Amino acid sequence: MKAKYRILEVVNTPSLVGKTITINAWVRTKRESKNVAFVALNDGTVFDNLQVVIDVQKFDEELLKNISTGAGVGVTGKLVESQGKGQALEMVADSIVLYGPADPTTYPLQKKGHSLEFLREIAHLRFRTNTFGAVFRIRHHMAFAIHQFFDNKSFKYLHAPIITGSDAEGAGEMFHVTNFDLDHIPRTEDGKINFSEDFFGKETNLTVSGQLEGELAALALSEIYTFGPTFRAENSNTSRHLAEFWMIEPEMAFYDITDNMDLAEEFLKYLVNYALQNCRKDLQFLNDMYDKELINRLERVVQTPFVRLTYSQAMDVLLQSGKKFEFPVKWGVDLQSEHERFLVEEHFKNSVILTDYPREIKAFYMKQNDDGKTVKAMDVLFPQIGEIIGGSQREEDYDKLLARINEMGIPHKDMWWYLETRKFGSVPHSGFGLGFERLLLFVTGMKNIRDVIPFPRTPQNAEF
Ligand code: ATP
Ligand code: MN
Repeated sequence: MKAKYRILEVVNTPSLVGKTITINAWVRTKRESKNVAFVALNDGTVFDNLQVVIDVQKFDEELLKNISTGAGVGVTGKLVESQGKGQALEMVADSIVLYGPADPTTYPLQKKGHSLEFLREIAHLRFRTNTFGAVFRIRHHMAFAIHQFFDNKSFKYLHAPIITGSDAEGAGEMFHVTNFDLDHIPRTEDGKINFSEDFFGKETNLTVSGQLEGELAALALSEIYTFGPTFRAENSNTSRHLAEFWMIEPEMAFYDITDNMDLAEEFLKYLVNYALQNCRKDLQFLNDMYDKELINRLERVVQTPFVRLTYSQAMDVLLQSGKKFEFPVKWGVDLQSEHERFLVEEHFKNSVILTDYPREIKAFYMKQNDDGKTVKAMDVLFPQIGEIIGGSQREEDYDKLLARINEMGIPHKDMWWYLETRKFGSVPHSGFGLGFERLLLFVTGMKNIRDVIPFPRTPQNAEF
């Protein structure tokens, strides 16, 4: 019979009562009186701790001293119904193995209640707190739910490249990829960097988006999605931007902008509902500790249809609101976070999908409307977050796309392969990008994007 269990199994298997089993875990807390010690163990598999009752007389004094907060231990004992409240089962220890002690005088998580800022400085240890255990379990479940959602719909998971030879999308905010010796960079006669001698024989960067490659695949497999890391060297040190973040980018042939909006709304609702169904304990903890409105907000998103309106209609709402914004509102300007949050949190009190943005503030590949001024873009705006999804119907007309590429001065050498898809068997298609960490901000109620990714990369920070 199996002797080694995880706390997840103990919590979910009441029939284990009376059995003698082994739990390997880390000590969260220890309370001690003369004859008995209570040790709370956590192995990260579930929010709950397992309480271990230790008869002090039966164990070596030195060993018991080392069973302190943070220590890694294996405890074998009998599971019994708990006397105390808060747990169904507890363990009466028969034997204890000390894998690794954690010196109480130097262990940084000796006490509870550290600030999130402090925990960011010890990101190598913050996994061991209730908060980050909850956040990273939810992160796992959301990643899984994303694959499940698309697999249920027969979308194919496409791995877009991380190294890209085109900078059409991210000009100016891309990270270079090179294996040049930085002290001796080859130059051409006119002093320019000679990329033909670089590893790939051309200038390369880390990708800012897998969309363009996703389109190539969608125009053969019909419905695909990517889910991978993307990189942006934008120097915006905000609570919603990372230099390395994960993005989910579905791309669908034969979808117009309305199909695209419908998919985005169904997708977000599926994910939020999945969290409510599968991450209840972790959500309840975050709700109680950080944000009493969290679960209410999640339930509202699942239950209410999103409001849909055009950028121009949103402009009217903002202009007529009489509100003084830091960034003035005028048709043609990009919406700032304060505008997005006014629409979502104050005006509509609901999630919003905005469409038909001015072409000047949107990417070259978006389908042009007949008015000559706007494109079939769509942004999904969420309470607390602002933009969570950006997407569009793509321009499938070769001549219109080429004209726009020329107008924007995008070099053809970067785009010839993309243009070919509009030359051969071009069809209407659409797609969008969901920032995975923006989704996690919403689902966990965390306020800073650095707290929903294990190892945040931001300006001046890549320590862990
Ligand atoms: P924003 O206006 O918020 O900077 P964007 O318009 O640059 O975002 P897109 O290029 O449309 O973003 O990217 C698609 C999605 O990726 C966004 O809706 C957002 O969820 C996410 N995203 C964009 N930039 C970042 C970033 N630096 N860190 C984390 N997520 C991001
Ligand atoms: Mn956007």
